[in-house]
Amino acid sequence: MTTPSLLILPGDGIGPEVMAEVRRIIDWFGAERGLNFDVSEDLVGGCAYDKHGTPLHDDTMARAQEVDAVLLGAVGGPQYDALDFSVKPERGLLRLRKEMDLFSNLRPAQCFDALSDFSSLKKDVVAGLDIMIVRELTSGVYFGEPRGIFTEGNERVGINTQRYTESEIARVARSAFELAMKRDKKLCSMEKANVMESGILWREVVTEVGRDYPEVELSHMYADAGAMQLTRWPKQFDVIVTDNLFGDLLSDLAAMLTGSLGMLPSASLGAPMENGRPKALYEPVHGSAPDIAGQGKANPIACILSFAMALRYSFDQGDEATRLEAAIERVLADGVRTADLMGPEGGTPVSTSGMGDAILSALDTSL
Ligand code: NAD
Repeated sequence: MTTPSLLILPGDGIGPEVMAEVRRIIDWFGAERGLNFDVSEDLVGGCAYDKHGTPLHDDTMARAQEVDAVLLGAVGGPQYDALDFSVKPERGLLRLRKEMDLFSNLRPAQCFDALSDFSSLKKDVVAGLDIMIVRELTSGVYFGEPRGIFTEGNERVGINTQRYTESEIARVARSAFELAMKRDKKLCSMEKANVMESGILWREVVTEVGRDYPEVELSHMYADAGAMQLTRWPKQFDVIVTDNLFGDLLSDLAAMLTGSLGMLPSASLGAPMENGRPKALYEPVHGSAPDIAGQGKANPIACILSFAMALRYSFDQGDEATRLEAAIERVLADGVRTADLMGPEGGTPVSTSGMGDAILSALDTSL
């Protein structure tokens, strides 16, 4: 069997700092679990612009298309704010998402028991929460035509169009069913079939795709009711699939049930490649955090959890992903905290590498 390949793009700001801890974790899995990756590293964002005059070099793009998974840190920074739109650091990330055709965005909302006080909801509502929102990422109202601001008579009118083809719905539904098969086999699809034709089609197509997954319990919910249920009793859900607009809102809502930005991973998946693995980009939800960059204060957990997602969804190493997540849970239960996780009771935060050290020793203990 060939060694699975991983392209690492640390990016800007705290990106390289948090990614350095992920590199240590990857080395640990190689040394202790015999899990080896063919790792290459390259530039994206502002640092790529500084070297090549573009936020993503063509060679890097080509490599991203070849590898089994891409792991990205963060891009951007105030020093790039004045750049032309076409070469801004974020354009590098957008190009990756577009050319890899990453239509399925996975945003987990997972609440570690030790951090349940960070949630704005009651502890028993969020403790142990582990749900996954699958958001369609490349179509819907953010892309539909016609769009624009037009003049009609003596006033202006703003237009965006919600548009979904059957195949666009079917492919994101299939990716959500595949995920549900790797989890608790429960999928809830959310739309507004009561008031939108695109919602009626969404519901029909998801139901049709569901016939290929008889083991998965499929339910449907209107997205507004879904938002209420997510705040009332989020643990009723396992996987949720929804469109681009509703997914944007619902995934932010669900993510914040669990506390800090420094804890949130994500994945964006595309069509299966020849080897059966989906094209995949894993990244923390946070940005380059220029306010704390270079100070060793960044929380590396979001990036490390992104690697755990890669283990589970690209490399079929669910048990090793669980081992890594359990190590993080243990470290947090022991009270180890980076500055962003300090509660009102205070204490001494650990540095980025201090958090990496703690997770590595928890991994050692797991053997
Ligand atoms: P940000 O996520 O970088 O930071 C928001 C706040 O959260 C800051 O106070 C920061 O210190 C804190 N924070 C973020 N990640 C943290 C971590 N891992 N540990 C501890 N604290 C953390 O968002 P922003 O300030 O709006 O944007 C900063 C730059 O990042 C901008 O250039 C923006 O365009 C870019 N950005 C990039 C991405 C990405 O690469 N995917 C996403 C969002 C923003």
